[in-house]
Amino acid sequence: MLAKLNLGVPKSVLEEPQIFAVKTHDFDNNLTRYYQRFYINVNRSKFDKWLLSYVPSDVRILYNSVYKNYEKDGKLYKVNYISSQKKQYLHCKILIGADGAISKVRKQAFNNHTPDKYISIQKWYKTKNSMPYFLSVFDRELTDFYSWVIKKDKHLIIGSAFKKGDDPNKKFDLLISKLLKHGYDIGDEVKKEGTYINRTRKLKQIALVNEKVALVGEAAGLISPSSAEGISYALSSGYKLAKAINKGIAFEKNYKKSMRKLVLNIFIKNIKIPAMYNSHIRKMIMKSGLNNLKILS
Ligand SMILES: Cc1cc2nc3c(=O)[nH]c(=O)nc-3n(C[C@H](O)[C@H](O)[C@H](O)COP(=O)(O)OP(=O)(O)OC[C@H]3O[C@@H](n4cnc5c(N)ncnc54)[C@H](O)[C@@H]3O)c2cc1C
Repeated sequence: MLAKLNLGVPKSVLEEPQIFAVKTHDFDNNLTRYYQRFYINVNRSKFDKWLLSYVPSDVRILYNSVYKNYEKDGKLYKVNYISSQKKQYLHCKILIGADGAISKVRKQAFNNHTPDKYISIQKWYKTKNSMPYFLSVFDRELTDFYSWVIKKDKHLIIGSAFKKGDDPNKKFDLLISKLLKHGYDIGDEVKKEGTYINRTRKLKQIALVNEKVALVGEAAGLISPSSAEGISYALSSGYKLAKAINKGIAFEKNYKKSMRKLVLNIFIKNIKIPAMYNSHIRKMIMKSGLNNLKILS
């Protein structure tokens, strides 16, 4: 998506190391395989700020402001928000929810079929060890999704996505003890962070537009249900919505139509899920050596 948008990532946004392999560690079957992948390892906060630098100067951005809700006001929407610790509002013809996994815009405009909610916990560890791959861990005892380890500069970030209500903190501690047991040297804990992550398992969990309220990115449920990657979907849906609105105020049909391929892509990712998440099928695939990368010693 970055290539399609003709964007080249500046060096200042990148984190060491740049990685070309995924090491898949299947704790269920005690199997390890490497696969070639082309990822960009970034500092997420710097990446987001870099994208914001492309917002035209005639667009007003309100930082440190919290969107609360909207009300219909004739043909317009009255948007209520808090800024500088004061209740404020503004009016708009079209309201776009780009507010991520726990979208308040979505909650109000579309009250059914929300994507499956997972809680993602990440801990940062200071380490001198190198890790020239992205580690993905599959373990049914931990989660029916997956866990990951990635090196960013001097830190190792260990994360996982757990079903809501599935005792995430306890499961996270179990992940750490399992990684240690498997010989991973993780270093000293620095910080812990957590958030929600959406998993769109059914197409009816995708919500795009209702009257003049539109959603993009994870708010719309646009995120890979197999890998939890959502940045390219967010960029793509934002682009498609902008194109549809630029054609005219009656953008709803055009937006939905332009999103068909992306929605189909999420449908196909769901079909792929058993191959990744059913431990018997995964075992067969990993044992077959299909597409695996031989690491030279
Ligand atoms: C731990 C973790 C790791 C991930 N790793 C990857 C990865 O490697 N690659 C990948 O492609 N995807 C990854 N994802 C998914 C990816 O981050 C999201 O899918 C993507 O950022 C969605 O973009 P978005 O713009 O829709 O939402 P977000 O990036 O979540 O942005 C939403 C914005 O809205 C703001 N907001 C929310 N509510 C309000 C409110 N009420 N008022 C004001 N502002 C509000 C938020 O602060 C945020 O800035 C990861 C997700 C997690 C949780």
